[in-house]
Order: sequence, then C-alpha cells, then structure tokens
Amino acid sequence: MTDPTTTLWFESALLETGWARQVRLVLRSGAIVGVEHDVARAADEPANGPAVPGLPNLHSHAFQRGMAGLAEVRGPSGDSFWTWREVMYRFLERLGPDEVEAIAAQAYVEMLEAGFTRVGEFHYLHHDRDGAAFSDPAEMAARIAAAAGESGIGLTLLPVFYAHSGFGGAAATPGQARFLHDIDGFARLLEASRKAVASLPHAVVGLAPHSLRAVTPPQLTALVGLAGEGPIHIHIAEQTQEIQDCQAWSGARPVEWLLANAPVDPRWCLVHATHVSPDEISDMALSGAVVGLCPITEANLGDGLFLAPEFQQQGGRFGIGSDSNVLIDVAEELRTLEYGQRLARRTRNVMAAEPGDSTGAGLYRAALAGGGQALGVGASRLAVGEPADIVSLDRDHPVLVGRQGDALIDSWAFAGRRDVVDNVWRAGVRLVSGGRHRARDAIAARYRRTLARILA
Ligand code: ZN
Repeated sequence: MTDPTTTLWFESALLETGWARQVRLVLRSGAIVGVEHDVARAADEPANGPAVPGLPNLHSHAFQRGMAGLAEVRGPSGDSFWTWREVMYRFLERLGPDEVEAIAAQAYVEMLEAGFTRVGEFHYLHHDRDGAAFSDPAEMAARIAAAAGESGIGLTLLPVFYAHSGFGGAAATPGQARFLHDIDGFARLLEASRKAVASLPHAVVGLAPHSLRAVTPPQLTALVGLAGEGPIHIHIAEQTQEIQDCQAWSGARPVEWLLANAPVDPRWCLVHATHVSPDEISDMALSGAVVGLCPITEANLGDGLFLAPEFQQQGGRFGIGSDSNVLIDVAEELRTLEYGQRLARRTRNVMAAEPGDSTGAGLYRAALAGGGQALGVGASRLAVGEPADIVSLDRDHPVLVGRQGDALIDSWAFAGRRDVVDNVWRAGVRLVSGGRHRARDAIAARYRRTLARILA
C-alpha cells in the first residue's frame, strides 16, 4: 500500500523554471510527486501565498542561541572574536545535555519560523561539564537530534573534531576540554552519531575539522578518509590573527594551505573564508566547494567582509549560516550580506550579477543551491522527487502588497522580517502556520525555565 497523496495550492511559486502562477504541488510520503501550474484552486484546497523552497541554514552552533546578547558589554581592552569566545566558553560551562536540547529546540523553532527548513549543526560540545566522556559518545549529538526531531527541522549533523588550541599541534586549553578527541575516539563518535540520527527523516551526517588551528595535517588527512562522500565543513580565515598564525606556521595563508594540502571539492564547505586573497578567491571558486557566509554573526563579531562579488563573478558557490544565532532571520542575513558590500563600496545592488537581476532573489537562489550542496542534499528546489520543504509568504503582509515574482523576495529581504513568513512545511508536514511553529509554546516554556536556571 502506498501513502495517500495530498495537494497544496499556492497563488504563485518559485519553480526551477522560474516563477509560475496558480501552482499545485502534489505530495506523497513527504516528497513532491507532481507540480502543476496555471491550475484553478479546488474548492477544498486552502489558498496559500507565494511559495519558495525552504532555505538551508548551513552553519549553526545551536547552544549559542542561549547567550545571544550577553556579549555586548565592552571589556577592559579591545573586544574581538577572541574576547567573545571567552564569554562563550564561560556560558557553555553551565550546559549539560538537557540544557543543550532545550536551547537547540528553541533555536530550531525560530529557524523554521524564519524560513530555514534544514540546519547544518556544527557540533563540538561533546563531553560532560568536567570534560569527561559520556558512556555514549554521542550523548550530546543525540540531544541535537532530539531537538531536530521535536522541531521537525531537517538535520545535517556535523560532528566536530577538535584536538589543539593553535597551529602546529599546540595543546588544548582547559576551556576546550569538552571538545576533544583523538582520531579513534572521533571515529566512534561518528558511528554513534549515525545511530543517533537514524530515526530522523532525511538526516545526513558529515564531519568537521574545527579549523586549521585545531587539527594537525595528519589528523586532517585521517578525517577526510572518514568522511566518505559526506559533507566536510571547516571554519577558515575568519580572523586576521588566524591568517598571521597560519603564515608563521606554514608560510601560507589558511585557504591557500588548505587548497594545497587537502582534496577540497564540492563536498567541502569553507565557513567564513573572510580574509582571502584574489588568488584564493579564484582557487576556491574553481574547487567547487561552498563558502559558508554568516553575515549577521560576522558583523556581530567584527570579523570583516568577504570579497563576495568577486567570488560570485567567478562562479563561486555560497550559502548562508546563522552561526552564533545571535539573531535568527533569513531576511536579515541576506540584507546584511548585501549591505556590508554597499557600505564598503559605496554603490547599490552589488550582489546582483547582471543588469535587471534582483539582488534579494539572486541571493536567495544562490543560497538554495549552495546551502543544499553544503548540507549533502543538493539544491533546495520545488520539483518532482524533492522533499516537500516549502515556505509560503504572507500575501497580506504590507511589505508584499502589489509584488510579484522576484520582487516578493526582494521586498522580504530588504523590507521585511520573520513575520513575512506565513507557513512552512518540512518533508510535507506543516510545522509553521501563520508564522507560529506548532510546538512554539511548549518549547519556549522549557527554554525559559532552562535559561532562568542557568543564568541565575
Ligand atoms: Zn561557527
């Protein structure tokens, strides 16, 4: 017996061939099995607003949602990524498995309400508060999987390998004790992580060398061997200090070193890649790897600006990540990416490739393709055979009045916020209706109790 089919009708939808009017998607077992357009709505079909494919969020540290806004007080000397990291290390001292699950579930509800339908969780908090391993090495990964299951978001879990505090195999610091493995221990974590996500629909397990600071070259080689065909993510070239340290260690810049010493290809996601030379831009584009841009977090941390238009002009692939989750909003990520470039270059519509192209819609399309590639599922599309990961926009929202086609996404990206999102389906299940996740209240109540306890 096959599952029954259901249908969803939208006033318009962004299909592979472009925008179409009066679109009916036929769903079965969580996938799209039929796409019709220019069809009248049946009497028993609710009318939905314009539909776009759900956006992949390619880089998240879910637990950091709980410290959003707590690192905005000036310290005794210049604040930077590194002083922010000290605040983050102190926050995570308070987090056990229950706390991580509660915070991750809250973050994932907010992601779904924003229009993200899959998350790449760059997961490095593996051990107990005292640094001791849990009896199940994937105890914490299982809590991430539970949060994904409860919220319904698609999960690409990226267990992180972390062994060193700096280039050349420097010993890890006490604040990093909960992240650490040797390669054998990491292989066991990977195996246990695959079991932990086995019951989630369409879950993917990749892996992530944390950064070139945290792994030695032989460890990196071993990790690539463990990855198989799965995604490989790495933080890279986020900070100028990291560039200098890498040059002192190897004579090369981080991206330059990685491209010369690892088989970087479309499996890879280079997260941030903020500080790169024109040669590195060209070589990254040629590699087919995705650059994981996290515009809100990069702005919040004062990281710097990626040479995004130069990379795009050379066919470079990129996607969007919410990273520190200091603010979870699809529109805000897209406009922060564009506005950084406008401010630096004193011009407009920098990321629109050709005259007549829409900036917001172009960024959204690029992030659908790049994000899906980075998360090991291929481009997010409304097409036969794809999971039914769908976002419909609120046709009655003031910022969408009179808009059609790409102007809808431009107006969402530059004039709207999360409340422009009306409904969200993930694998055919409607998780968000009228902007509210179906479990928002229960998950938020547990989150409030958790935060009240750990911040007391
Ligand atoms: Zn990160």
